[in-house]
Amino acid sequence: MLNIVLFGPPGAGKGTQAQRMMDATGLPQVSTGDMLRAAVKAQTDVGLEAKNYMDSGALVPDQVIIDLIKDRMQEDDAKGGVMFDGFPRTVPQAEALAEIVDVSIVLAIDVPDERIVERICGRFSCGNCGAVYHDSFNPLPETGCTCGSFAEKRRADDTEQTVVARLEAYHQQTAPLADFYRASGLLHLIDGDRDIDLITADMLKALN
Ligand code: AMP
Repeated sequence: MLNIVLFGPPGAGKGTQAQRMMDATGLPQVSTGDMLRAAVKAQTDVGLEAKNYMDSGALVPDQVIIDLIKDRMQEDDAKGGVMFDGFPRTVPQAEALAEIVDVSIVLAIDVPDERIVERICGRFSCGNCGAVYHDSFNPLPETGCTCGSFAEKRRADDTEQTVVARLEAYHQQTAPLADFYRASGLLHLIDGDRDIDLITADMLKALN
């Protein structure tokens, strides 16, 4: 059973790569960001609690996230392994995860801060199939989205103001996790400042 953690700053390409790796490995993507956005939209208790943190670019409290993951990992499709995207983001989250499953490998996508802002401001996705695009770096094909039914979606927190706070949260709370996983020999660094296909190829090589 393979449990993969995709690790890296906001805008590193975790979501884009998760989708491609999902196709290649058959593992479901478990994105706490996606789960929280769905909760906000549905106005559940979790969504109402998470919204202010997300809007300001801060991390949602660990216990909220850990409870979400515990529930998610009970679902049938998680039994054969998953690909975590955007989780864990703090050392307590990683410690809680270790109690739930064995992490097989951590793929850490490395992208310098100066690239992050331009990557995040300009990205959009297809509300129908979830494919991720970018105005400059990964534009929508002239023929439209491959799913055949494009619906443009931009995230509320993909703004220049929020990116600064999200990057700060990353450096203060999430980056220390690299040492946590390096110490257990699970960390695999991937240069994320390259062509999207090359990054995918590197990741698949790391899994083999
Ligand atoms: P993402 O889609 O991964 O960029 O997450 C969007 C926002 O959701 C983040 O800026 C946080 O506010 C929140 N979030 C997502 N995942 C986590 C997590 N593992 N821990 C804490 N907050 C999270």
